[in-house]
Amino acid sequence: MGHTALVLGDQLMATNPALDGAERVVMVESLAVLGRGPIHRARAQIVLSAMRHYAEELRGRGLEVVQHRGAASFETALGGESGEIVCAQPNRAPASKALAARGVRLIASNQFLTTPDQFALWADGRKSLTMEPFYREQRRSFGLLVDGEGKPAGGRWNFDAENRRPPKSGLEAPDAWRPSEDQIDEQVRADLAGWELDLWGEDEPRRFAVTAAEAQLALADFVEHRLPQFGAWQDAMVPGDPFLFHALLSVPLNLGLIEPLEVAQAAQDAWQKGRVPIEAAEGFIRQVIGWREYVWGMYWLRSGQWQGDNALDATAPLPAAYWGEPSGWACLDGVVDGVRRHGYANHIERLMVLGNVALLAGLEPWEVVGWFERAFVDGAEWVMAPNAAGMALYADGGAMMTKPYAAGGNYIHKMSGGAWCASCQYSPKKRTGEDACPVSALYWDFIGRNEDRFAGNHRMAMPVRGWQKFDAAEQQAIKSRAALARDELAGLSPDAER
Ligand SMILES: Cc1cc2nc3c(=O)[nH]c(=O)nc-3n(C[C@H](O)[C@H](O)[C@H](O)COP(=O)(O)OP(=O)(O)OC[C@H]3O[C@@H](n4cnc5c(N)ncnc54)[C@H](O)[C@@H]3O)c2cc1C
Ligand code: SF4
Repeated sequence: MGHTALVLGDQLMATNPALDGAERVVMVESLAVLGRGPIHRARAQIVLSAMRHYAEELRGRGLEVVQHRGAASFETALGGESGEIVCAQPNRAPASKALAARGVRLIASNQFLTTPDQFALWADGRKSLTMEPFYREQRRSFGLLVDGEGKPAGGRWNFDAENRRPPKSGLEAPDAWRPSEDQIDEQVRADLAGWELDLWGEDEPRRFAVTAAEAQLALADFVEHRLPQFGAWQDAMVPGDPFLFHALLSVPLNLGLIEPLEVAQAAQDAWQKGRVPIEAAEGFIRQVIGWREYVWGMYWLRSGQWQGDNALDATAPLPAAYWGEPSGWACLDGVVDGVRRHGYANHIERLMVLGNVALLAGLEPWEVVGWFERAFVDGAEWVMAPNAAGMALYADGGAMMTKPYAAGGNYIHKMSGGAWCASCQYSPKKRTGEDACPVSALYWDFIGRNEDRFAGNHRMAMPVRGWQKFDAAEQQAIKSRAALARDELAGLSPDAER
């Protein structure tokens, strides 16, 4: 007799290994998982819609599928199951433990290019675990943009010098492909409206792919229309358009609807056919087989450590500004508004606005991770812990990054073409005084507060020296402005007691 396959909501691979030899399939829509806290309604919509579309596809393949819709929890849904249950290794460490404890047999998953064991082998004995050497090995292992001798196409591994430009005025990207909603989406909306969940964010027509077929359309559209300019503008921020030339593929990738190798090969293929420049193909392939697989590996390598990490002793609670309460800081309010509307911000908005402000203001890392996970359409613990706690907040003390990604208002001004700052009540060039940019004041205050910590880090030597060059009065003025900035962020009036 065959087993029962348990397919989790982010393991919707057509080739999910738990399906091999399965007699029936169980899928659980757990309200306990959806209801862990406020959640973006687009995220809830996407996950449920994807699961239900997948269930239909499996039925089309002749499989019996039992769907537990709106189940109180996994435990209650699985309570009535007898016989062997098999599940591909979950992408979330706590889920792995809970299912194993319930007696579910976990088997190796095929969702990523690199298994946690392979990554651990790569990491073993290395002094530094930065992404670049891992990425180069990936390029060679998967034969992407390398010649027969393993040398990089175009003569270089990295085209950052050509890529990552600040936006030019009037920069516009072609609209991204968008799916049409169907009856399944309609039913999901109706169910969500009837359940007691704390849904946040705007309810806009679905924007992201939730089936394998939709994912193929999204990929083809990206490669043809936006990949050619992806490299140049991948770090640009344009108020009102978070999508720019980005792929919008993190949702189907993270749900298992499209394979990372296929995505990377599509970019290589476009380059080989002369449709996209090398710098665009390389910049994109770096994200998919480099950064994505690297954070996946780091998540498991440091499994059990992320939640307690707090190398910079950051303890401030997440401010209401992250849930859409206006802070008066045009950049932060602008990016959060995009998240509220679409459940999306591009990589630089996540890292250099949302993450940077959280780093400089000393927000508690795991609370920030939780917010990212629930406010974004593509959130998942495996990707948020390394990206938010590690890359953005340096909570891991440098396990991933050689230095914190800290920046003042000038960086935001430059990479957004000055657009947010032009509409802001503050001046990005000023770090002290009433109209000083709060991000710039917080930046210098952050360097000052961590002067001793960063003393031994040569990559932080320049900003530390910069701080030390300020006289005592300037340092005090920065600290006062930074304290005020923290109050603004916390929604306190300037007169409130500190
Ligand atoms: C603080 C912070 C939080 C993030 N949270 C998430 C998250 O919850 N889920 C998520 O999928 N990505 C996350 N990222 C990574 C990245 O920002 C998103 O993958 C990307 O913005 C998704 O949009 P896109 O598909 O249009 O990507 P593009 O910019 O077009 O990039 C292409 C693909 O590369 C992959 N990728 C690129 N960078 C990363 C990275 N650092 N980590 C993992 N994958 C990467 C994604 O799969 C993405 O779809 C985060 C980054 C930061 C700095
Ligand atoms: S002045 Fe500072 S707070 Fe205002 S938009 Fe520019 S960087 Fe952001």
